[in-house]
Amino acid sequence: MNQLVQVSVENEMDLILAYKKSIKAAELLGLSISTQTAFATAVSEVCREVIDKTHDGLASIEIHNDGERLSLAAVITYKESPGMGNLEGGMQYARKLIPVFNSSVSNGLGMVQLKLSIPRSSGLTKAKILIIGSYFSNVEPATPYEEVRQRNLELFQINEQAEIALKQAEYLNQQKTEFLSVASHELKTPLTILRAFTQLALKSECSPQAISHLKKVDVQALKIQMLIQQLLDISKIENGKPDYNKEVLDLNDYLGNIFELMYQMVPGHELLIKLGDTQPVLIDKLRMEQVITNIVGNAAKYSPMGTPIEVSTSLLPTGEVLFKVKDQGIGMSKEELDKVFGKFYRVESVTKSFNGLGMGLYISSKIINDHGGKIWVESIEGQGSVFCFSIPVYTS
Ligand code: ADP
Repeated sequence: MNQLVQVSVENEMDLILAYKKSIKAAELLGLSISTQTAFATAVSEVCREVIDKTHDGLASIEIHNDGERLSLAAVITYKESPGMGNLEGGMQYARKLIPVFNSSVSNGLGMVQLKLSIPRSSGLTKAKILIIGSYFSNVEPATPYEEVRQRNLELFQINEQAEIALKQAEYLNQQKTEFLSVASHELKTPLTILRAFTQLALKSECSPQAISHLKKVDVQALKIQMLIQQLLDISKIENGKPDYNKEVLDLNDYLGNIFELMYQMVPGHELLIKLGDTQPVLIDKLRMEQVITNIVGNAAKYSPMGTPIEVSTSLLPTGEVLFKVKDQGIGMSKEELDKVFGKFYRVESVTKSFNGLGMGLYISSKIINDHGGKIWVESIEGQGSVFCFSIPVYTS
């Protein structure tokens, strides 16, 4: 006889444990699922009777060697009690489930033995029996209390590992943000000098061809400058608030000053600008310019050459100014409408055909929020998009 595991049979918790151990033993022995369930149910039925009538028993799951054949057995012993008898409901049921059912009482001790034979096809060897036994003594907890304790320990370890992983991730994230910040600053300085000299050269006397080349250099340098600015902004947003230098401005005067820039952003498109009545607004000039160039630049990037782009402003009944940029480009599906304002988010279908890093709208939405406004997009896939933002009219 080899004992695999023993369970005390005193309360409901023990009953669950007896069921689990029985099913595990049958499973490890390679018995079919229906045999596993029948064995475990029979064991727990007998244990239930013992718990109900005596509160004092012991169940032992064993391997018996009956001559040529090996059997899986459960031996349940208990203190004899007047209420205990073989005709009890649970006992009767167990008797039907298991081929061998023996019971006896002697010297005040009762015993029920349940037994089923293990098919030769399961390939059970002595070594395997030892492994199964050591599984129960090393891996499986012996009592319900131990089971709870073991689970607690596991949860504690998982929690501790998660905390370490989180700390590492936070550290790496901080390193990345610092790297972004330092690298962007280093790139920004030479680029500003490059643009300054390009502007100077454009003012000097040079051939029309040279001017055309210089303008192309400047547009490309501007694009790199915007990307670097975006990288810097991401690190600023992650480290707190970007700094703002807000002032009260006349909206139409302000927009008039950046028309030139807007035209530069949409070469090959017809830019139609319709401004509503002017209003005073409290804005950071450069930050707002960043939002507008991003939205207008996107309208050009994501629409076919030659299609018109409409920029308009109007006053909303809520006392806000509405700024709209409408294109006739690729548009996007309903599901994408909110997602495009997420960090590094790009619509899957654009990633192969259009360059970009998915930072512009994330930063724009942050800037508009920090101006007390809202930003959103309306769009029909394949027909075009309307990007809108609203900011409050300044009232002193
Ligand atoms: P980027 O253009 O660098 O990818 P943005 O943050 O500016 O990053 O835009 C995020 C995503 O929103 C884009 O990748 C694109 O999928 C979608 N998008 C933005 N503007 C438009 C537009 N006018 N038409 C269609 N899709 C757009």
